[in-house]
This record gives sequence, structure tokens and C-alpha cells, in this order.
Amino acid sequence: MDLTELTIKQAHEGLKNKEFTSVDLTRAYLEKIKKSDLNSFISFDEDFALKQAAEADAAFAKSFGEPKKKISMLTGIPCAIKDAIMVEGQKCTAASKILENYVASYDATVIKKLYEAGAVILGKTNTDEFTMGSSTENSAFGVTKNPYDKTRVAGGSSGGSAAAVAANEACFTLGSDTGGSIRQPASLCGVVGLCPTYGSVSRYGLIAHASSLDQIGPIAKNVEDAKIVFEAICGEDKMDATSADYNFEESKTELKGLRIGVPKEYFSEGIEPEVKKIIKDAIKKSEKAGAKIIEISLPSSEYALACYYVIDPSEISANLARFDGIKYGLSEPAENLLDVYLKTRGKGLGAEVKRRIIIGTYCLSSGYYDAYYKKAQEVRQLIRDDFAKAFEKVDLLFCPVSPFPAFKIGEKVDDPMSMYLADIYTIPMKLAGLPGLSMSAGKIGDLPVGLQIIGNHFEENKILSVAEEMEKLLK
Ligand code: GLN
Repeated sequence: MDLTELTIKQAHEGLKNKEFTSVDLTRAYLEKIKKSDLNSFISFDEDFALKQAAEADAAFAKSFGEPKKKISMLTGIPCAIKDAIMVEGQKCTAASKILENYVASYDATVIKKLYEAGAVILGKTNTDEFTMGSSTENSAFGVTKNPYDKTRVAGGSSGGSAAAVAANEACFTLGSDTGGSIRQPASLCGVVGLCPTYGSVSRYGLIAHASSLDQIGPIAKNVEDAKIVFEAICGEDKMDATSADYNFEESKTELKGLRIGVPKEYFSEGIEPEVKKIIKDAIKKSEKAGAKIIEISLPSSEYALACYYVIDPSEISANLARFDGIKYGLSEPAENLLDVYLKTRGKGLGAEVKRRIIIGTYCLSSGYYDAYYKKAQEVRQLIRDDFAKAFEKVDLLFCPVSPFPAFKIGEKVDDPMSMYLADIYTIPMKLAGLPGLSMSAGKIGDLPVGLQIIGNHFEENKILSVAEEMEKLLK
């Protein structure tokens, strides 16, 4: 039996029934990681992982003596973490040269929660630099390859996290989503990715990209696993003022009688015909299962990309000011303080990050603030209003995740505008702070295509319940 093929639940059963130990499981994953040619990991630490696995085995051994003691489903389950989330004592690079040797001095809240649940951390996965990108090509440490076709990208920015799950290099991973970075790579790698409602999972310990958008979420082999991980990491955190008083409660929502909205703007120009067909077929299947399909319109969606690429760089220009060569990571010696800043940032940051800092600084500068940043915030409100109106009429939205499947490495990297289009269907709901899930709906040749299910704020339970039913229909 290949232990790395097991889902969380299956692995849990195996551990509980003493078929294997967490050390066995962890070793099996470490072997896969060592043999991999996907470049899905930036770093991994065998001793660190095996020590946690031994602790998990001890917790299991103790629980065998006390059969009534409930042991968490994640105890002893090996996972990997996007390298923008802090794990104390491990490097946290954000895939940037400026943080190449930076070691995290504390655990992110999600990591604390995973430890409490007994999970085993194998290592840190590749990402676009500071999570800016849609292909992981912006990583300073090389691109992650798509397990289905190694000449193609795994998506981004959580490309390493998605590829690792698809290639069984981790049982589950954490990613982060600012404009699509959990759902888009999950779609391109044929795995499940959940971007939770803004505020439902603490951002404390996630290296900031755009604070009004950033969200941590799970990438997993199936919907049930994503649910298990989400339940373990969500909830209010006093270290994150934007985290919400939210507790996930599992509930059953059936397709039968459910009103599913299909936004017509998500099927118009730009989408590849085969992607459109796969998503339309999935929608038909939900209709056969009893759902009521309602065409809706989200008219402000057409401005979402433009709005995002003002707000996102503006927040980046502020958030990344802290990487100045004094406080963290790389520091280039120079004659005076200004030159330290210039040299360190000049050398340590990549092209896309610099591009966004420049755009953001421009958008926020006096005289331009009203024309760009303020205007974008007004448009953001219109986008929110569109979704609010839609959710008066429907329970969930079904649409594509990405207009195209995994593209060739190098195909879009020199053309930022065409790269930005990769997120055309994931950015609008992000501006509204809504939750969304990506799950595989079919393939074009070898390449997976993801269905996106969007819900109203804090309706992850609805999304997950319906996604589980869809998973059976799409098999
Ligand atoms: N691709 C989008 C961007 O580059 C989204 C990134 C993300 O969600 N982290 O900003």
C-alpha cells in the first residue's frame, strides 16, 4: 500500500487501527518529496517532521489506553505549508531573495492550531514571490511544475501547495488566497482548494500581501479533507483584529431544491470553449440532482481586475515598506541609510514585486489618491452590492475557476496583463470577501479543470456540503 495516497480520514483510520504509525506515514511522504522533480517545496526538515510524528505516535499510544479519549483527526497527518506562513524555527522566505535566510521567530496562529490538532509539518511549499502571481514563476527559487504535465505551470501563487497535494507529497497543505491563489492552482492541479470568508481564519503570521484581501485556507485531496482542515484552523484570534467570531458548524445542504446562480459574465469572451463545456456539464448534473439553475448577472465584475490592480498594489506598497534591509533578512551595506534601502530592495526584490510597489505608490500619492485608490474602493463597493443582490435570489454560485487549464511555463510570464487574466473569475468575490471552493470537474486531455462554488459570507458549511454531493456526481 502506498501510504501517501490515503486521504486524511483513511490515514486516521489506519493510525487508529495500528496498521502503520505516523513515523511510517511521514517517512513515506519525505521519500516522495526527496524524489520529486516538481520543485513544489522550498525547504523541508526531516528531523523536525519525524520528531513531530513520534510525538503524534505517542499521543496515539496514550489514547489506546483510554479508548474514550477523542483523538483529533489530524493527529499524525503530514502536511506542508506555503512558504509565506511562519513556522517557528523554520525558514520563511515568501520565495523572495530578500528573505532567503530569514528564520521565523514565531508560529502563525494557523500553525499553532495545526500543532494543537497534532498535525505533522513536513516543510514549506513554493509560491510566487510575496504571493504575487498566478503561475509560481515569480518565485526566486524556480518554478513549480504541474504534476499532470511538467512543461506546464501548477498555477499560483500557492502552486507548490497545490502540486504537492496532487503529487502525494503531502496529505494536505495550507495556501493563501488574495485574488485566487488557493482556488486557481487547485483548479490547475485537480485538487480541492477552499478560500474561506475574509476573517474566518486568522492571518496572524502570514506575510502580508494585501491585508484587506489575504486569507489562509486548505488545499486537499477531497472535499471532506478540506473541511477537516478548515474546521481545525478557523476561528477568532485576538492577534488578528480582522478575524471574526466564527465557528464552523457542519450542516447538510442538499442540491435538491437548492437555487444555484450562474453568473452570465463568467461564460463570455476569454473562456476556453472546452472549459466552458466542462463547467456547463457540471451545472447540468446539479440540475439533474434537483437544483434550480438561475442565470444571474454580476454587471460590475468587468471592473474587478482593474479595481484589484489598484487596491492590491496600493496595499502592497504599504505592507512591503518593512523590508528595508534593517529589520529583516537581506541587508546590503552602503554609505548612508537611503542607499541601504535602495540597494537592499533593488537586489532583494523581483520584477513583479517592484512593479506593484511602484504602481501602488503612484496610486496612493497625493493628487492621484482620489482618482485611483478612492475610485477603486467605490468600485469595490459596487462589486460587493452585485453579490449581495445575487444572494437575495440564490443560495450558491457555480462558475469556472480559471478561463483556461494549466498553461505552458514561460507562456505568460513576460506579459503581466495576460497573467492577470488568469484570475478574472476568482478576483471579484475576493473583493467582496466571500468564500469560494475549487474542485475538479473534468479534464481537457490530461489537464484538470476546476468548478468554483461561491457562497455568501460565512457559508462555508453550505459550500462544503454541496461540494461533497457534487464530488460524487462528477466522479
Ligand atoms: N494572481 C493574483 C495576484 O497576482 C492573486 C494572488 C494571490 O491570490 N495571492 O495578485
